[in-house]
Amino acid sequence: MNAGAAGGAPFDLMLRNCRLEDRPGQADIAISSGLIARVGGRVDGECRAELDVEGRLVSSAFVQPHIHLDKVGTLPLLGRNRTGTLAEAIDILHQTKRSASPDEVAARAGVVIRQAVVSGTTRIRSHVDVDTIGGLAPLRGVVQAAREHADLCEIQTVIFPQEGIIRDPGAAELMDAAMREGGDLVGGMPHWETGEQAAREHIGICMRLAQRYDTDVDMHIDETDDPGSKTLSMLIDATVDHGWQGRVTAGHCCAMAAWDDAYASEVIARAAAAGVGFVTNPATNLLLQGRLDSEPRRRGLPRIKEMLAAGLPVACGQDCVHDGFYPFGTADQLQVALIFCHAAQLSVPSEIDAALSAIRHTAARVMGVRGYGLEPGCTADLVVLDSDSMHEALRQQAPRRWVIRRGSVVASTHTTTAIGRSDDH
Ligand SMILES: [Zn+2]
Repeated sequence: MNAGAAGGAPFDLMLRNCRLEDRPGQADIAISSGLIARVGGRVDGECRAELDVEGRLVSSAFVQPHIHLDKVGTLPLLGRNRTGTLAEAIDILHQTKRSASPDEVAARAGVVIRQAVVSGTTRIRSHVDVDTIGGLAPLRGVVQAAREHADLCEIQTVIFPQEGIIRDPGAAELMDAAMREGGDLVGGMPHWETGEQAAREHIGICMRLAQRYDTDVDMHIDETDDPGSKTLSMLIDATVDHGWQGRVTAGHCCAMAAWDDAYASEVIARAAAAGVGFVTNPATNLLLQGRLDSEPRRRGLPRIKEMLAAGLPVACGQDCVHDGFYPFGTADQLQVALIFCHAAQLSVPSEIDAALSAIRHTAARVMGVRGYGLEPGCTADLVVLDSDSMHEALRQQAPRRWVIRRGSVVASTHTTTAIGRSDDH
């Protein structure tokens, strides 16, 4: 019974004295060939390496379902906005995008990938601009960074027409070229087009491209305060029309906050029937949306509680790190989950569980990650937290002591804190 891994070979790694969320006491986790081989109160058998986590909490590693690795870290590179206008801000962004080389993009992306890994994330979905300004340079940079960090992290790229498709002639052809160059998913941003007809055409082009490459779709949807922005409804229609149920993700969906209740609940019900997944990005959208409102101000988030009640998978992403849209961020999903709780007013235990799932199981589901979890047979991507429960880890933003990727320790963090007091205290 205690022969070790399959065929009697020793386990590659044994984690001793782990605290797990769903079982009392402590457990051992045995890992072989990058997979979890056994989980039990005491797992015997030979192992090549052993790590005593001393009662710390072990969780499946975090999942980042929405980030823009081509733009991360660009804030210091942006020229000064002399007029303070949105038009000049866009012009400055375009200048940066026009001059970026793949090496420069890969270097910036690499810094944030390593930050993500150190904070416990081993799977990332990155949108990457593909348009007539930057061409394929941003994609080449992110693909290069993904290759350079393949031992630490798995990275999916989404071909993202940031400047529109109809209003950026040549973008559709570039998207096709990007898919041939190794893009993983088809992105989109239909609300950026001018008018409903163009938005519908935009979605159609994206869906046909996804069919041609037999790949999933992940679009930026209704990232605006405009209650008239209704591209989520168009995306749901297109999902059904193309038979792409279960293969489509809608990101942002800020306009949902501005819709009336009846329309919102009708669209939520149709999204559930079409198997559309969602990613909310509360950090960036709390900062960007509702800026022109007088009080009461819209919060720029989709209707999280209604969506959860309808059974929709709602994942949570970082979106931006230190760029022209968002000057903060460290690609730390535990921080993102805490922001999510505040933004969506998630405070009772079941709601906090949903927020923690939004950076773990739900995010994995939305990204189509197979073998995610702590059961035998799952990929051994784990994070060991200096905490004894996930709720406490969230509250305290617990240090990530070790991060394990396919059974190998890929990051470790040591923190030392001391309080100094005078003798007469
Ligand atoms: Zn985004």
